[in-house]
Amino acid sequence: MAKYVAIRDIVQDKVPVGFLELAGWIRTHRQSKRVSFIELTDGSAVSNLQLVVDPQLSGYAEVAPKLSTGASIRVSGELVVSPAKGQKYEFQVKTLELLGEADPESYPLQKKGHSLEFLRENLHLRPRTATMGAVLRVRSAAAFAVHKYFTERGFFYLNTPIISTSDCEGAGEMFHVSTFDAENPPRVNGKIDYSQDFFKEPASLTVSGQLEGEICAMGLSKIYTFGPTFRAENSNTTRHLAEFWMIEPEMAFYELSDNIELAQDFVQDVIRQVMTASSSELEFLASQEWAQQGHIENLQKVAETAFTRMDYTDAIKILEASGKTFEYPVSWGIDLQSEHERFLTDEYVKGPVTVINYPKDIKAFYMRLNEDNKTVRAMDLLVPRLGEIIGGSQREERHDVLLAKIRAMGLDESAYWWYLELRKFGTVPHAGFGLGFERLLMYLTGLQNIRDVIAFPRFPGFAKF
Ligand code: ATP
Ligand code: MN
Repeated sequence: MAKYVAIRDIVQDKVPVGFLELAGWIRTHRQSKRVSFIELTDGSAVSNLQLVVDPQLSGYAEVAPKLSTGASIRVSGELVVSPAKGQKYEFQVKTLELLGEADPESYPLQKKGHSLEFLRENLHLRPRTATMGAVLRVRSAAAFAVHKYFTERGFFYLNTPIISTSDCEGAGEMFHVSTFDAENPPRVNGKIDYSQDFFKEPASLTVSGQLEGEICAMGLSKIYTFGPTFRAENSNTTRHLAEFWMIEPEMAFYELSDNIELAQDFVQDVIRQVMTASSSELEFLASQEWAQQGHIENLQKVAETAFTRMDYTDAIKILEASGKTFEYPVSWGIDLQSEHERFLTDEYVKGPVTVINYPKDIKAFYMRLNEDNKTVRAMDLLVPRLGEIIGGSQREERHDVLLAKIRAMGLDESAYWWYLELRKFGTVPHAGFGLGFERLLMYLTGLQNIRDVIAFPRFPGFAKF
C-alpha cells in the first residue's frame, strides 16, 4: 500500500496532525522571499491542501521555476492546524521532489477556469480539473449508493450479456458484433450468410438487459443489473450517448404500483446517499456559473416529497388544456415528446412525475395489457430539465395474451420462444424498470450535457480513447 495520505482524509479530519507524506498536482504556486505557497490537489477532494515552503528548503530554489500549474510533486512534512483563515489545515514542507513538470507554455489547463466545451476537447486532461474531479467522485459515490440500495433490500446483482442475440424489441438501433471482413462478408443469394459468422447468427451489443433480467428474476425473485448499454441511435442530443450505463431491477411478484413505489424510493434514497457522501462536491458544482439557482435545495425537496403520478390520458388532457402551441401537436395516442414532458415537469407539476398507462401501440410488446385493451401498464419517470430518466412497466405474464401481442405486432415469434416459455412454466406477475445512470448523474450534478458526466463519452462521430 502506498504511504501517501489522501487530501480527502485530511479535510475530513481523519488524519491526525503530524508528520506525513503527500503526492499530487500543483494548482498554484506563489513565491516570495520569505515564504512560498503551493496549492496541492490529488483529485480526492474539492479542497486543495496549502503547502507552506521555506524558500531556503534544500533543493527548492533549483526546482522552483518548474513548480507550475499541473506539475506533479511528492512531499513530506508536518500537517498542522492552520493559523490562516479559510482553511483548517496547512502542510509545512520538509522535503519536496518534482515528479513531472508541466510546461506553462504548452500545458492546456491553466489556473483560469475552462469552459465545459473546452474540457470536452481535452478529455485526456479533463479528470484533473476541479469540475470533472467532482463529477467523477459523485459518479463513484452514486454507483456505490445503487449497489447499497439494492443489496440491502434483498436484490441480487446480475450481469446480463453485453453481446446479445436478442433484440429488446428495438429499444434502440444496435451495433453489430461480427468477425466478418466488413469489405467482403460471405453471401448466399446476395444475402450476408451469418451462419459463417462467429456466433453463427447476427449478434449485437446489448440495448437493454431486461429480457435476460426477466429470465433470472423468474429464478431469484429480485435482481438488478448495472452495466453498459449501447444504442446506435443517431441522436446528437445533450441527453443521449451511444454507450451509457443502465440500472435495471426486475422483480417477480411485483405489479405496476409496486414498481412505481420502488422507483421513487430508489431515486430518493440514492439522492440522499449522494448528498451525504458527496456534499462538498455537490456544493462545489452548485457554485459554478452554469449551475441552476437553488439546485441543492431542490434535490433535498425531491428526496423528501412523493412524486406526482399521472395517467397518460390525463397528461394528454393537461397538455391539450395548456394553451401552449407545441411543435408536435397533442392528441391521445402520441408518444410524449421532450417538449411535452418538459411542460408537465417544469411548468405543470414543477417536480418529478410518473406517467403511467400509456397507449399500447406506442409501447413495447412485453408490457402488460390493461383491462381497457387500449393501454399498457407502463411507467416513465420524468424529471424537470431532463425529461425521462426511468422507463419501466409491469410485464405481460399471460402466455396467450403475450403471444397474441407478438403476432399482432408482426414480431418473429420463433425468436421469442424462450421468452414465451417463461410464461408457460411457473409464470408470475412481474415488473421492472431501467434507469439511465448518466441521466441520474445529470440530475444530481446539475450538468446539462450528458457528455460531462461520463469520463469517455461516445456519440455519433466520436469515440476517442
Ligand atoms: P429516450 O426517449 O429519452 O430516448 P428511451 O425511451 O429510448 O429514452 P428506454 O429504452 O426506456 O429509453 O431506456 C431506459 C432509460 O435509459 C431511459 O429512461 C434513460 O434514462 C436511459 N437512456 C435511454 N437511451 C439513452 C441514451 N442514448 N443515452 C443515455 N441514457 C439513455
Ligand atoms: Mn423509455
